[in-house]
Amino acid sequence: MSRSVVLLPAILVASGLSLAASAQSIATNSPVPLSTRVTGYAIDAHIDTGKKSLDATETLTYKNLTGQPLTSVPFHLYLNAFRPQSSFTSETHFTGGIRDNEKDNDYPKEKLGSIDISSISADGFGDLKSAMHFTAPDDGNMQDHTVAEVALPHPLAPGETITFHLTFHDQFPLSIARNGWKRDFIMGGQWYPKPGVFWHGAWNCHQYHSTTEFFSDFGIFDVKLTVPQRYVIGASGVPTGEKANADGTKTLSFHGEDIGDFAWAASPHFTFTDGIYNSSMGPVKVHVLALASHPAAGPRYLDVITKALGEFDRRYGPYPYKIATVIDPEPGSEIGGMEYPTLFTGGTSLYEPTYGTELTAEHEFGHQYWYGMVATNEFEDAWLDEGINSYTEVNVMSSLYGRNTSVINRPYGNVGDYELQRLEYVTSADFDPVTRWAFKFRNSGSYAGVTYGKTATLLGTLEGIIGRDTMDEAMHVYFMKFRFTHPTTEDFLRTIEAVAVARGRATILPPDDPALKQPVSYADVPAVNSNLRTYFNQAVYGTNVLDYAVDSVSSDPVMWWLPESKGKKTQYLSTVYLHRKGDFILPVTVEITFDDGTKLSDHWDGVDRWTKLSYTRNARVVSAEIDPDHTVLLDKDFFNNSYTTKTNTTAASKLMMIWTSAQQLIAQVVSWIV
Ligand SMILES: [Zn+2]
Repeated sequence: MSRSVVLLPAILVASGLSLAASAQSIATNSPVPLSTRVTGYAIDAHIDTGKKSLDATETLTYKNLTGQPLTSVPFHLYLNAFRPQSSFTSETHFTGGIRDNEKDNDYPKEKLGSIDISSISADGFGDLKSAMHFTAPDDGNMQDHTVAEVALPHPLAPGETITFHLTFHDQFPLSIARNGWKRDFIMGGQWYPKPGVFWHGAWNCHQYHSTTEFFSDFGIFDVKLTVPQRYVIGASGVPTGEKANADGTKTLSFHGEDIGDFAWAASPHFTFTDGIYNSSMGPVKVHVLALASHPAAGPRYLDVITKALGEFDRRYGPYPYKIATVIDPEPGSEIGGMEYPTLFTGGTSLYEPTYGTELTAEHEFGHQYWYGMVATNEFEDAWLDEGINSYTEVNVMSSLYGRNTSVINRPYGNVGDYELQRLEYVTSADFDPVTRWAFKFRNSGSYAGVTYGKTATLLGTLEGIIGRDTMDEAMHVYFMKFRFTHPTTEDFLRTIEAVAVARGRATILPPDDPALKQPVSYADVPAVNSNLRTYFNQAVYGTNVLDYAVDSVSSDPVMWWLPESKGKKTQYLSTVYLHRKGDFILPVTVEITFDDGTKLSDHWDGVDRWTKLSYTRNARVVSAEIDPDHTVLLDKDFFNNSYTTKTNTTAASKLMMIWTSAQQLIAQVVSWIV
C-alpha cells in the first residue's frame, strides 16, 4: 500500500500541532497522571553490541500503597529463563522450544541468557545484597533464578517509598521468546530487575514460564541507552535527547509515563517512516522503524497502525500516549509479534497471507489496550489480554479489510479473521477452560487454541446472544472503567452483564437461581445475577463442547394408507430430529424449509440430548438448519448443522476442500502472533 493512503485528511494533522499539548506531559496527551504510579525507574544502560550484553545502573522507587507494612520485595529476573536449569527451558520439553528436539541434549551456547545483579541497596535500608535470595514460588525449582526476593531489614511502612539502587549485567541470548539478538539486531525485552505486583493482599511474582507473559505496576521510566553511533534505537516512551560521546558511542534518552514496562530495539539498519494520528486526546506520532531491507514494510505498518488507532479510539476509547513505536524485526528471528508499552514488534514472512503484516501489527497494537492500559495479570488471566485482544482484532480487521477477507483475500479463496480464530479453537483439545493460569495449560497447543481462539470465538458468539451494539458498549465501558488498573475475570464478566441488563439484553435472576451456582469457587466475588451466567459457566469457566446437529428430516402423508392422488392436496407429517452432541447447552434457532417454498423459524432450548420437531402441513419439509444466521461460532462442527432431503454432496465436499487447504496457511499465521 502506498503511503498516500495513510494520509487521511480527516484524522491527520501537521505534526507541529503536537506542540500545543506538550505543556501537559512529555509522554501523554493527558494533563493529569493517568495511573497510580507505584514505580519510578531511572536506568542508565551501556549496550555492548558485539558481546550482545549490557551493563546498567537502576534507581527504582517503589511506593508502598498496599495498606500494610512490607517486609520483602520480590524481583523478576526474566533473562535467567534462558539457561538449561530454568523452569522455562524445562517446560519447552513439552511446549516446543529449546528442548523440543529430544535428540539434542545440549543447550545451545548462543541461546544462553542471564541477568546478574552485582549490587543492590536502598536508602535507609543499607546494602541488601546479602538479603537477596532466589525463590521459586510456582514450582520450587531453586535453580530457576527468574525470581529473587529481597528481605528488608526493617518493614517499609504503608504509604512510604523505598528507593533501591542496583547495578546489573545482561547477557542477551540468540533470539528466543521474542528476546535477544539476531545478526546485529538486539531486542531488549524484560531486561531489567522489576518488582512483582502486590495484588489481592499478597505479592504476585511468578517465575518465567514457557507459555507466560508478564505483569507489572504502572510508573514512570527515564532510561538512557548508550550504543555505537551507527546504531538506531526504538524504545518505549518518547525520545528526549541524544548525545554523542567521545568514545564513538552515543547516549539516547527516553521518558515514559503511566506505563508498566520498558523495552527497546537496536539495529544499524533501521529506517524511519513516521506519521501523525490526531486522536480524541491529541496527536499521536506513529513511529515505524523498519529494516532497510524491507522498503515496503514501513508504509504498510504506518497505514495499518494509523487506521487501528482510529478504530480503537472510536470503539473502545482514546490512546493517550504521544507515540506508538513499531519495530520491524530482523527476519528469521524469534522477535516478531510482541507487545510492550507504546512499542511493539511486527512480523513479515515470505509465506504470509494477504494481510499477514497488517494482522500481526494490529494484534500487537491492540495489546496497548489489552495489557498495556487494561493491565491484567498475564500469568493468571491470559485470556483477558490475548483473548480479548484476539476478539477486538477480529472486529478491527473486519472493519478495515472485510469480515470474510481480513486474513486471505485471493482469487482462489478468502478467509476472515473470525474463521482463523475459530480454527484455532476447533483444532485445540478441550482440556482447559480459558481461565486456566497460563503455565498450567496441558500444553502450548491448548494454551494457544483456548486463550486466543476460543476466547475470540466465545465473545463472537456472545455478540449473537446480546447483540453487537451491546457487546461494543460493554467493551468500551470495560476499557474506560478498568484502564490503568489490574482487573480480573469477574470484573470483565460483570461489566458485560451490567451493560447487557441495562440494555435489556439480559435478565436479572434471583440469588437462588441454579444458574448462579458457579462451577469454580471464587469466594471473594460478590454474587452476580444475570442469566448470562449459564453461558459464562460453560464458555468461560467450563470446557464443555458445543455441537448441535440435525440428525434427520422426514415427511410422510398423514393418511399414509390412502394413495397420494395427483392434483389433490396431501397433508404430511414432517419430523426433524435435532441432536445436542456436546455437553454445552445453548438455546438455538432452527430454520425449517418446506417444498412449497415456505420457511419457518423454530427454537430449541437444547436442555435434553435430542428433540423432535413435528409439522403437519400440506407440504413436506425439505431442509432444516440450526443457527441459520451463523452466530453460534462456538459450534465445533458447522457441517452437521443442516440437513436437506436432496443432499448436495458436491457443495459440501467443495466447502471441505477449501477449508482444509486454508488450514495450513492459517496455521502459519497462528504460529507467529503472540
Ligand atoms: Zn498477543
